[in-house]
Amino acid sequence: MKDQFNREIDYMRISITDKCNLRCRYCMPEGVELVPMSHLLTFEEIVQVCTEAASLGIRKIKVTGGEPLVRRGAPALIGMLREIPGIGSVTLTTNGVLLKEHLSALMENGLKSVNVSLDTMDRGLYERITGKDAFPQVMEGIEAAVNAGLQVKINTVLLESVNENEWEKILEYARNHPVDIRFIEIMPIGAGRDFTGVSNEALLEKIRQQYPRIQEDLSVHGNGPARYYSIPGFTGSVGFISAMHGKFCTRCNRIRMSAQGEIKPCLCYGTSIDLRQALRSQPGAATEKEEKTGGRQFLRMLLQKAIYEKPQAHCFEHDDEITEDKKMISIGG
Ligand code: SAM
Ligand code: SF4
Repeated sequence: MKDQFNREIDYMRISITDKCNLRCRYCMPEGVELVPMSHLLTFEEIVQVCTEAASLGIRKIKVTGGEPLVRRGAPALIGMLREIPGIGSVTLTTNGVLLKEHLSALMENGLKSVNVSLDTMDRGLYERITGKDAFPQVMEGIEAAVNAGLQVKINTVLLESVNENEWEKILEYARNHPVDIRFIEIMPIGAGRDFTGVSNEALLEKIRQQYPRIQEDLSVHGNGPARYYSIPGFTGSVGFISAMHGKFCTRCNRIRMSAQGEIKPCLCYGTSIDLRQALRSQPGAATEKEEKTGGRQFLRMLLQKAIYEKPQAHCFEHDDEITEDKKMISIGG
């Protein structure tokens, strides 16, 4: 369906856990409080929400987290979501640590495309950024996914004085591998506020100096606002997601749901609509049937409201207007 600014909202990112097996410094530093398991939506509840969302025009779902693969049964959930009428694609964003282990289950459940987050090609720096010596495992996961024929995108966040020069080696990986490398500008959310990101505009200039024949690629690569380029001689492409310096709100097509069932229309604002409450209590329903129908209608109405009232634009450039105080880990990146 369209929101109040006439944008077609057809993409939902759902976080299925706020737990993670890494501790990326800009996302989930040590000591973050986790939500109790009983507050997480069950898979059945997630499917219920996504079924109503599909009836409102959501066509693409991204499963994310926290780290989605730490939640038991995540591959089966992907299969359940794919079966919802109207849903055309279900994809996954992961840190890749458990990708190889779960690859066959993911593929059996119909996964076709995966985004893997990777901020460096240096094992030591990887450990310093993520708190875990898991670089070899992640690379094995990426290789296994590529070899199995999955469409793989690598998501990289560059931070000043941390990994700002890592783009060269990460990009180089796309020379001989059919992967899209996407550089994501850090947003001032949660722990991300303590870091300074690298502007994609400046980065593209640096890449252009090294690869003068780089060219914009207008073909569709995915669900979102990335701008893609191809470099002659490279098997994969390079993409830029420039939330900060290339504000793409007029083209925004998404809503998010946290692991606890809060719908978030925009990352910048604390506003959310709580579906868990609606899923778990139906006061006034006399029979089970009434409870089910009433529940579905209420859920749909809340989703409609969340989509319709989606804000016109984020406000990350005005620090004092940002009302979101949650960490990326609990919003679902
Ligand atoms: N654990 C999975 C992963 O790392 O891909 C999925 C969740 S993680 C929150 C999703 C993405 O959000 C990662 O690529 C991460 O780099 C990115 N991210 C985390 N905090 C961010 C921030 N403040 N601004 C922009 N991207 C951020
Ligand atoms: Fe975990 Fe992903 Fe956040 Fe890193 S970016 S701490 S892997 S949720």
